[in-house]
Amino acid sequence: MTSSVEVALPPLISNVLFAVAPGSGASRLLLTAFIVMLFIALTAAVLGWLRARAGLRCAASTALQIAEGDLDGARLQIPACGPVASTALNALAASFERVEREAREERESLSLVLNSLGEGMLAIDDARRIVLVNQAALDLFDVGDRESLERRPFIEVVRNKTLADGFDRALEGAEVRTSALVDAGRTVRHIEMRVVPVVAPSGIAAVALCIDITRMEHLQRIRSDFVADFSHEVRTPLAGLRLALESLQEGGLDAAQAEHLHAILHRQIGRLERLVSDLAQLDEIESGEAVLRFEEIDLYPLVEELCTDFEPRAAANGLAIRVSGGRARAVVDPGKIQQVFSNLVDNAIKHSSPDSGRIEVRVRSEDQSAIVEVQDFGEGIPPGEQSKIFHRFYRVDKSRTARGEGSGLGLAIARHLVIRHQGEISVESAPGKGATFRVRLPAAAG
Ligand code: ADP
Repeated sequence: MTSSVEVALPPLISNVLFAVAPGSGASRLLLTAFIVMLFIALTAAVLGWLRARAGLRCAASTALQIAEGDLDGARLQIPACGPVASTALNALAASFERVEREAREERESLSLVLNSLGEGMLAIDDARRIVLVNQAALDLFDVGDRESLERRPFIEVVRNKTLADGFDRALEGAEVRTSALVDAGRTVRHIEMRVVPVVAPSGIAAVALCIDITRMEHLQRIRSDFVADFSHEVRTPLAGLRLALESLQEGGLDAAQAEHLHAILHRQIGRLERLVSDLAQLDEIESGEAVLRFEEIDLYPLVEELCTDFEPRAAANGLAIRVSGGRARAVVDPGKIQQVFSNLVDNAIKHSSPDSGRIEVRVRSEDQSAIVEVQDFGEGIPPGEQSKIFHRFYRVDKSRTARGEGSGLGLAIARHLVIRHQGEISVESAPGKGATFRVRLPAAAG
């Protein structure tokens, strides 16, 4: 009797076995074991392949997530990609994070440097679109915020053909220096722009530095006006001095002639001294260097006393000074505010005709203000000149300069002093009917 081990195999496999190995039971057993092992190995291989494929897919999608910058999402997914891929993906995410942080820090430093520049900086690409702009340029052109400007055409944002042409020439390779008057919100600015062409991997094709030269030009104009005015002012006294000196040098003068020439010398020297001291005072007040000593006083007695001092001079011109009104308390520098009113009363006497007979000075308190008005009934001031008389050296009647009357600085000094008191000075006048100068100062509280 032959012993055999019967193994229950699926009918298809056992049929195949009996067909291929019709021998003894032992050899059939061996074959069966081999096939089972093969089956298990194959199954394991298939399962392994399936797992590897899933891991690969997971790794690919996680890497994609990292590339898109979704680091938090990727970190949640990494453990599912298997131990080997996880280590690599974690390293990838960390390095991506580092690169991103470094780029952000670089961007922040660049923007810090650009924004700390006092000058406006603007960069465009070769399609003339803004790719970089600093805060100073936004302020200069008075245009919106940086984000809304980036990638918009320069001409659309700044709307200035001259500056846009400057960029065009720079894109053709030239270094350009141009300037234009630009509408910036409610003001017009004179902007100077220097543009250089650049080749940068970031797409920047030209960089411009923009400087506001409005104020510089204004100061330049003030300076030349001042030099012109000053030379004009000193020319007359200097000519008088030269003439008097030459006549004295020639000799042969009698006592009366010599005395007359000495009087001219004194007058012209006095005029030059007044001019220099008025100018120095104006400069001190304008620059804010003048120290004012404020105290609360009633303006009425101050004005009354001042007018009393002027009475003899007024009387010599056939004029009477009438002071009216009442208490008007204000916080002022008494010396300086007295200088303001003295100038107004002095001008009223100078510009009154003797037949007008009087000068009126009124003091009152009204709507939180202390008001002093000086009214004369003299020649008056034409409407077109009324605002100009507060300018340095301005005179309505130009022949007064030649006659050496006043420095033309009195009202400019008065205006600056009133401004230093947070007040206002104004004039109302009709030619031939006289002028009323009004000083409004903040009334003392309480
Ligand atoms: P100055 O009196 O030395 O000429 P001011 O600055 O005091 O200089 O005055 C400037 C100009 O304003 C005067 O030259 C004059 O033309 C005009 N002006 C000032 N006050 C009066 C006034 N009360 N009536 C008419 N014109 C005046």
